[in-house]
Amino acid sequence: MVTFSPTPTQCDVCTDLFNEAPGTLIYDTNVMGRWGCICHKCFVYFGCTLGIGRGQKYERQANGTFLQTAGGLLTGGAKDAV
Ligand SMILES: [Zn+2]
Repeated sequence: MVTFSPTPTQCDVCTDLFNEAPGTLIYDTNVMGRWGCICHKCFVYFGCTLGIGRGQKYERQANGTFLQTAGGLLTGGAKDAV
């Protein structure tokens, strides 16, 4: 299991605070040529895609952490902290 650590609190693009509710989706993705942690709204708006080297999807768990649920390898990198 790969969780996003430290737990991000806001979108890097629109700066909206991430919803605290379980099931909230965020993305660690390439957006406009830069890497950022963004909300679902921005992910759709900028036409981002999932995959190795493109983007990973994370879903808020009941304990407040974000667990990676899609987007390629579920290990590796600085964010591989469980
Ligand atoms: Zn956003």
